[in-house]
Amino acid sequence: MTGFNTTIIHTQATKKDVYGALHVPIYGCASFEFDSAENIELAFNGKKLAHSYSRITNPTVEHLENKIRKVTGAIGTLALSSGMAAIANLILAIAGKGDNIITSKYLFGNTYGLFDKTLKSWGLETRYVNFANMQSLEKKIDKRTRGIFLESITNPALQVADLRKISQVAKKRNVLLIVDSTATPLYFAKLQELGVNVEVISSTKYISGGATSIGGLIIDHGTFDWSQIAAMYDSARKFGPNTLLHKLRTEVFRNIGACLSPHNAYLQSLGLDTLGLRIEKSCRNTLDIAQFLKKQQKVKQVNYPGLKDSENFQIITSQFNGLGGSILTFKLDNKQDCFSFMNKLGIIRRATNIHDNKSLIIHPASTIFCEYDDELKKEMGIPDTLLRLSVGIEDVEDLIEDISMALGEL
Ligand SMILES: *Cc1c(COP(=O)(O)O)cnc(C)c1O
Repeated sequence: MTGFNTTIIHTQATKKDVYGALHVPIYGCASFEFDSAENIELAFNGKKLAHSYSRITNPTVEHLENKIRKVTGAIGTLALSSGMAAIANLILAIAGKGDNIITSKYLFGNTYGLFDKTLKSWGLETRYVNFANMQSLEKKIDKRTRGIFLESITNPALQVADLRKISQVAKKRNVLLIVDSTATPLYFAKLQELGVNVEVISSTKYISGGATSIGGLIIDHGTFDWSQIAAMYDSARKFGPNTLLHKLRTEVFRNIGACLSPHNAYLQSLGLDTLGLRIEKSCRNTLDIAQFLKKQQKVKQVNYPGLKDSENFQIITSQFNGLGGSILTFKLDNKQDCFSFMNKLGIIRRATNIHDNKSLIIHPASTIFCEYDDELKKEMGIPDTLLRLSVGIEDVEDLIEDISMALGEL
């Protein structure tokens, strides 16, 4: 098999373009016609593969899915309208009333809200653990546990879980291991080799190629035995490893309708072509900035998993090929200093979002976590002296000069 970049860039379209176009075009239509009543019957009965309606499948969206399937070796991929749609569709497909999901409190804010509010009101229980403690993880698993869900690098605490260890527990107890790999998508590692069954990704972030569009992905590595779950048993006998994707495509995803628009699929397909390059550059920049910040007197503490003295360095090396990601956090003396620092920056932008081509800074305690009380913020590791920097692909000397100037004026 060819390398990561070659595979992504040269994945062929399902059908040859009539003009020989080298990018699969944007098929911006809702519906597709058939040349006979017989063929439309075959398509609707799943006996002939054809696009009929863009909420269900669309050629531009399918091409994005094919690129991801090829480069990951997954059995199937589903592209959706957002990262949240990917997570919600997946959980709704695997769990119901009375079931439970195990996760930690170090979650993307809206994911936490989905578990703690939205799904709770439908009778799904969420159990919170510390993923560094395998015994407590195993103790929380019972007959109604339908999944273990965690983020590959948490944000903004930047914790990195040991996926090999967690997957051993998941496998032993026949529980689906789901990883939100938004912070370490595709290029960082082949997560199926670390024992992950299903990945979800907000393609809004790294993949879109500069925050051009909102999107989400479900990637099924096809390694889970669905016949172990009573509610899935009949389906598992028919569809084997494709049980989850079949349920999503013919039921949950189709009925909820959170499909990716062909325009956004096109942007994200272009973004994918340069994903490897952008990850290399932004991780390199982040390491350089982390090393610079560590030497500054006004900076109290720097957290970046790619730093040699980080408690996560070992796991970053063995799990993610030494790539520490493109987010770092650091602390200043007090909240006022954080605000003044942000306001003095000239190149780095004050904005939420992560993994843009542009470097972005935010004060998490007063923004992303503003709805949470002080105790929960403390539990989540969000003091008001903390700043989060998502590093882009600019020239790093310019970023360091911007930071240096703003620190100098404090
Ligand atoms: C942004 C993000 C999401 C949600 O994705 P959207 O595309 O904004 O819906 C989920 N998980 C993580 C880790 C994220 O960073």
